[in-house]
Amino acid sequence: MTSYLIRNAQLLGGPAQSILITDGVISEIGTGLTAEADVDIDAHGLIALPGLVDLHTHLREPGREDAETVLTGTQAAAKGGYTAVHAMANTFPVADTAGVVEQVWRLGRASGYCDVQPVGAVTVGLEGKKLAELGAMHDSAAGVRVFSDDGKCVDDAVIMRRALEYVKAFDGVVAQHAQEPRLTEGAQMNEGQVSGELGLGGWPAVAEEAIIARDVLLAAHVGSRLHVCHVSTAGSVEIIRWAKAKGWNVTAEVTPHHLLLTDELVRSYDPVYKVNPPLRTAEDVHALRTALADGTIDAVATDHAPHPAEDKDCEWAAAAMGMVGLETALSVVQQAMVDTGLLTWEGVADRMSHRPARIGRLSGHGRPVSVGEPANLVLFDPAYRGSVNPDSFASRSRNTPYRGLDLPGRVHATFLRGVATVLAGELVEQGELA
Ligand SMILES: [Zn+2]
Repeated sequence: MTSYLIRNAQLLGGPAQSILITDGVISEIGTGLTAEADVDIDAHGLIALPGLVDLHTHLREPGREDAETVLTGTQAAAKGGYTAVHAMANTFPVADTAGVVEQVWRLGRASGYCDVQPVGAVTVGLEGKKLAELGAMHDSAAGVRVFSDDGKCVDDAVIMRRALEYVKAFDGVVAQHAQEPRLTEGAQMNEGQVSGELGLGGWPAVAEEAIIARDVLLAAHVGSRLHVCHVSTAGSVEIIRWAKAKGWNVTAEVTPHHLLLTDELVRSYDPVYKVNPPLRTAEDVHALRTALADGTIDAVATDHAPHPAEDKDCEWAAAAMGMVGLETALSVVQQAMVDTGLLTWEGVADRMSHRPARIGRLSGHGRPVSVGEPANLVLFDPAYRGSVNPDSFASRSRNTPYRGLDLPGRVHATFLRGVATVLAGELVEQGELA
């Protein structure tokens, strides 16, 4: 294996030090390292973060390879500083059997850019009627621990209860897309002043909050683990804060776009801003930032949702919901959370690596940057300034709301168990994972 000497990187909570990577492991850290390595990297001014872990990625394969493949999605992940992503189950076919989750897991191994942990569907075909083979997916080679019907809400309370009870047996977690379906029929954007002015169907905050309130009560009742996907409203934050104060086993994530953008952008009628849950108000953004800073919200998760141009370059009402996010997440978090003084880089490592790895029970990820640990590592340049150019994305899709926008920071290098997947901001060609 190639060895790397990373010189003078900024370590979290300490002075600049050098990091030696040999045989996939962080073998030395210090100020006066004399070791020789195959590759020398000048990391002056770069922050060394643990490899990022995404709890919420849509890789689209199998079935929508025109939008993304496991290969292009994991390349996008590596460029964004990720070493592990959870692949959502709303593929074609749906990842609701051991066979499909194993297929996604194998495609991840073959890509070599990033670990792919498949998420299993909660219900057969995401139809919300009948529990999928949760145990078989857990027992498969993919070792599924996170289950979600994401894209759809498990709205039947009895099915949700059974799922929560079932996953307890193997320390699994149900990740809920909280959207009361009847309250969001025909919804096109956040329900509020802007939707009223534009005459677009509203997606009210209460449709998210009602499901979260029910689910935290269910999770407490059966003593199981609940994870709330893409929290988007101030009211949801209050419910989660209450549930955590009760000591219930509830975790939550927020997307980068809900930390930065508001429904005012919908006035442009540009479908690039159409997403589910929708962009909310400035008050919601403020509450989400505060909750991420104080730990009420555990993690940033991208909800990377690639769509081909024909599904986005159309009128608002007909456009697909979702945004790509893997390649801009860390920069958006720097802008929204670090440059505003709300979160330190230690906090970023906690919310984007340590905690998501713990929620997904990924033992090899979210580890500290210290000697003896697997070398899952990002070198990030927070001083870099540049505008977002979607044509440079590794993702197969270009539906980013940040096109042409100046965002701070850039991933300089990413290492997956000591193998460089990105160097000097560019992908390094990979073979199959050993
Ligand atoms: Zn969702």
